[in-house]
Amino acid sequence: MTIHEAHQLLKNKQLSSVELTGAYLERISRVEPEVRAFVTVTDKLALEQAQKADELIASGHAGPLAGIPVLVKDNMCTRGVKTTCSSKMLENLVPPYDATVVARLNEGNAVIMGKSNLDEFAMGSSTENSALFTTHNPWDLSRVPGGSSGGSAAAVVAGETVYALGSDTGGSIRQPAGFCSVVGLKPTYGRVSRYGLVAFASSLDQIGPLTQDVTDCALVLNAIAGYDYRDSTSVTYPVPDYTQCLTADLKGLRIGVPGEYFVQGMQPEVETAIKTAIGKLEELGASVDWEVSLPHTPCALAVYYIIAPSEASANLARYDGVKYGFSYQGGSMWEEMEKTRQYGFGAEVKRRIMLGTYALSAGYYDAYYLKAQKVRTLIRREFDLAFEKYDALVTPTSPSVPFKIGEKVDDPLQMYLSDVCTLPINIAGVPAISIPAGFADGLPIGMQIIGKHFAEETILKVAYAYEQATDWHKRKPEISETAQ
Ligand code: GLN
Repeated sequence: MTIHEAHQLLKNKQLSSVELTGAYLERISRVEPEVRAFVTVTDKLALEQAQKADELIASGHAGPLAGIPVLVKDNMCTRGVKTTCSSKMLENLVPPYDATVVARLNEGNAVIMGKSNLDEFAMGSSTENSALFTTHNPWDLSRVPGGSSGGSAAAVVAGETVYALGSDTGGSIRQPAGFCSVVGLKPTYGRVSRYGLVAFASSLDQIGPLTQDVTDCALVLNAIAGYDYRDSTSVTYPVPDYTQCLTADLKGLRIGVPGEYFVQGMQPEVETAIKTAIGKLEELGASVDWEVSLPHTPCALAVYYIIAPSEASANLARYDGVKYGFSYQGGSMWEEMEKTRQYGFGAEVKRRIMLGTYALSAGYYDAYYLKAQKVRTLIRREFDLAFEKYDALVTPTSPSVPFKIGEKVDDPLQMYLSDVCTLPINIAGVPAISIPAGFADGLPIGMQIIGKHFAEETILKVAYAYEQATDWHKRKPEISETAQ
């Protein structure tokens, strides 16, 4: 059931939020042994919130999210509920406050079902870097759900929640959305408050929705977007009603297809599916330029893996065993600090901290970090220029369908490559959405639609028109339920 469907049923009193929540909790207990998307199930809290929502609905004052189950990625602070970042470092951390997005869900009387698994501190593309466990792709349990918001995406398509929140630093909403066949939006940098999101790379991080369709995506964005005085990078632009732009007609819309995103070595079925999908956009009235070039695209991966680890190394310096989370006891002050970080962080997080510290160190700053920032500006300008000619750019979300669990864990470079199509978007700070666009041998393929800064309405419109003309988003995986 989607948000808009559930809302109708609740409003017409055909269903109560307590019943709906109960049904989802039941589903969670049945499929969770296979999928493993949840770090924490907040069943008691959810039923309390559902009860409250029912009272509100009865009084006729319920908004579009009231009484409807949502899952929150476990790197967003939830007051009184553990927020682990899937790290040993924060395994027992219970924040005393809510992230702004969580507060906004609560104001809308959403029902929070729990916290979802991720790659440790959102570093990864498969959830295999979670220090707790790996999430399985509901379409094929031997494959990864993508990452780092793999728990959120898997739970949505497995029917364990109606929708979820994820965070995206280099693709972590869109790539798992593509791998699980759900809709995932990374808003423009600054559109959604990052207050209470555990920072990975602050100039790239952005929170966004993972939903079953585009209408739901617009509804969630309505609720979470907007200025927040607690995040100085959030912008004061007014938030439109994003559901207003959802029309099935693309007449007059100019779409560009940048050749660089059809990278060498990409899976042929993915290329074919995306080109067919773009043909569909043409049928729907858009004019498509198939020959766009964004020549700096190949630099994005290198730029990202300088900038993101640099910012991460600064952000993660706070985990010293004194202020938050895990604290190794028994040694000198320095020894305690060292051991806290040695045992608290996993291998990938340490790799990023080392890369970042190196890139920022006095002798190398100009050669790496400063150079990366300069190339970042070039990439951004290239997008600005493209958006003078096109309303949207369309690309694959990933070069392949979901890969096998274990296939890339020992090869970080291969793992990094699974985000080649999504990283440039964070570097430029523009918005992009991934929507279901086909299957290859039963495995999902995602299409990415990119817009200019603050043009979420345009990409939602393109996504909606495509969704109306296809039914990929209606397909659901069969998961054998193992009653506990
Ligand atoms: N996979 C990318 C990385 O490992 C992006 C992660 C993200 O968007 N949080 O950094």
